[in-house]
Amino acid sequence: MQLYCNSLTQYSRLKTREVKIGDLLLGNFHPVLVQTMTTTDTMDTIATVEQSIRCIEAGAELVRITAPSKKEAENLLNIKNELRKRGYNTPLVADIHFTPNAAEIAARIVEKVRVNPGNYVDKKKFEQIEYTDAEYAEEIERIRERFTPLINICKEYGTAMRIGTNHGSLSDRIMSRYGDTAMGMVESAMEFLRIARAETYHNIVLSMKSSNPQVMVQAYRLLIQQMDAEFGECYPLHLGVTEAGDGEDGRVKSAAGIGTLLEDGIGDTIRVSLTEDPEFEIPVCKDLVKRYARHNNQQRKEDTNFVPPLVDRAIPYSPFEYKRRETFAVDNIGAHHVPIVIADLSKIENITAQHLQNVGYTYDEATDKWNISDAAADYIFTGNQLLNFELPGTLKVITYPATWNKASDKKKYQPIFDAAGFLQAEQKSDSINFVMIDCFSDDTAINDFTYLDELANDPSVVICLSSTNKQAMASVRRMFIELMNRNIKNPVIIICDSNWQTADEHLIHYATECGALLLDGFGDGLCLGMTQESYRLQLASLKNASGRNYLDNQTAEQFINNTAFNILQATRTRISKTEYISCPSCGRTLFDLQETTAKIRSRTNHLKGVKIAIMGCIVNGPGEMADADFGYVGSGPGKITLYRGKEVIKRNVDSNIAVDELINLLKENEAWVDAD
Ligand code: SF4
Repeated sequence: MQLYCNSLTQYSRLKTREVKIGDLLLGNFHPVLVQTMTTTDTMDTIATVEQSIRCIEAGAELVRITAPSKKEAENLLNIKNELRKRGYNTPLVADIHFTPNAAEIAARIVEKVRVNPGNYVDKKKFEQIEYTDAEYAEEIERIRERFTPLINICKEYGTAMRIGTNHGSLSDRIMSRYGDTAMGMVESAMEFLRIARAETYHNIVLSMKSSNPQVMVQAYRLLIQQMDAEFGECYPLHLGVTEAGDGEDGRVKSAAGIGTLLEDGIGDTIRVSLTEDPEFEIPVCKDLVKRYARHNNQQRKEDTNFVPPLVDRAIPYSPFEYKRRETFAVDNIGAHHVPIVIADLSKIENITAQHLQNVGYTYDEATDKWNISDAAADYIFTGNQLLNFELPGTLKVITYPATWNKASDKKKYQPIFDAAGFLQAEQKSDSINFVMIDCFSDDTAINDFTYLDELANDPSVVICLSSTNKQAMASVRRMFIELMNRNIKNPVIIICDSNWQTADEHLIHYATECGALLLDGFGDGLCLGMTQESYRLQLASLKNASGRNYLDNQTAEQFINNTAFNILQATRTRISKTEYISCPSCGRTLFDLQETTAKIRSRTNHLKGVKIAIMGCIVNGPGEMADADFGYVGSGPGKITLYRGKEVIKRNVDSNIAVDELINLLKENEAWVDAD
């Protein structure tokens, strides 16, 4: 397989091996399963059982429980018995780090064990060691000896296994040879997978998680390619973005990573890791998966043995590393400029200065000045309205051509045409002309691209791509490939409309459709919108998302504008705010993660570009913080250890003053500015 999926331009699910987890079947075109993980102390049987039940009632099809040592692994039996007694037969998964003994106990009790190949055998010392090939082979032999007993138990008890690689916890051996890379993550899992296959154990699921959706997406793609090249088949994949955070950030980050892969037919089970109670993860998972139900059912019904042909031809970009598509600049769009955000205000009747507050501009009457936030839209689209108030200096307005013709200030106003309208227009802007193209995927229409060459010759043209096709992302990507093949370098705005209803559905739609393109290096700007019907419904639906109001009663315009900036942040294409890498918490957590995350966020959310990790335990936290600049890690009851990168700066700080100490640390390292 030269690529990583069946088709880049049409939805087609990747065939994977069938795996049995209790009575559940996973892979081989079975529906994508949704799962979560408890956050209670595993030794507290009743609390864990009751939380598991809340997750199952919310729709979890698998429930994972941490087993950090032998005693927790043993207690899984009490948890399982109590759940079965109460009538819940959902398969359980033991989450193992560092402790093979615990894994070997758990594998006799629960339906699946998860091992982390970064720390199952290796103790991480952050050492850089040069291995000769012979020494490396010896290390693999050592893994084989330690890992094979678990495989044998799994075979005997019919237990499934996830080999779950985390970007933040690669072994010193992998780090020394491959570095902190997606390829290192793949090799980390492959080492274990090869051993399992040699023992003819195949009841395996794999995952490649990272808190950075870019790395995560590349690692899964590489893993598929590697499995296909080495074994001629793929094992089922569990998708997830680690430490995604909470609220909108967590949902957008998860959807950008998980949704991008689901769009390409990849993924057999998913977990959305939110720093919220685990049952709140399930509706988000379901919203992600339901987008593909139609395709999956069709594919299964038509032919359960269906093996789609693999795409095997060159494409003009690499899906395995991030490189932004080369463009020339039209004003502040394209080339080296960060992707812009266009706010669609066209559904507001009589736009006033007040409405600009929704998209990041606040007018201060006393000083007669506009305050501009870091997440302020760069352009607004007003449809047919000219505005009768003074605009902020940095903001420009896009209107339909007839309205643009009437505008006196042609520097402030720019027209948006459809392709035919632009080619025929007598009046055009000297500086920027936005030109809309609907990339529907009807084959005869899409093959006639001659008009693109005409647009391409105009240095004022910014192309705006949207698609009314059900497979919108795929058809827009097909157009990007066409532009690259034709060496067309005009910048491109991705236009994405949503006709979903709840806030979560909208977020997931935008983040999936746009995230998938941005992660491939496509797009010089975003313009998100809602269909008229969704817009009409927005007031009721935004407030009721997932039964929780994490949106603070935002208006549709505010919500959409924030989402656009969140997507750019999640895909790391435009950083406009602080990034929080917070673990979802589990039975190891040593403090109230949700409350602490909220507290840290309220003090630091003005620090643009700073990455702060908030991790529940010192065992896994430091490893899982990935590329955070600063870390706040639970190191004992009431104790916090503070990190700069991976370096311990203050050990066992009293938790009552730990947030203040974190702020001091930021100040000492010139990462602090006072809030406005
Ligand atoms: S970092 Fe958080 S989720 Fe991971 S093991 Fe520690 S407490 Fe649990």
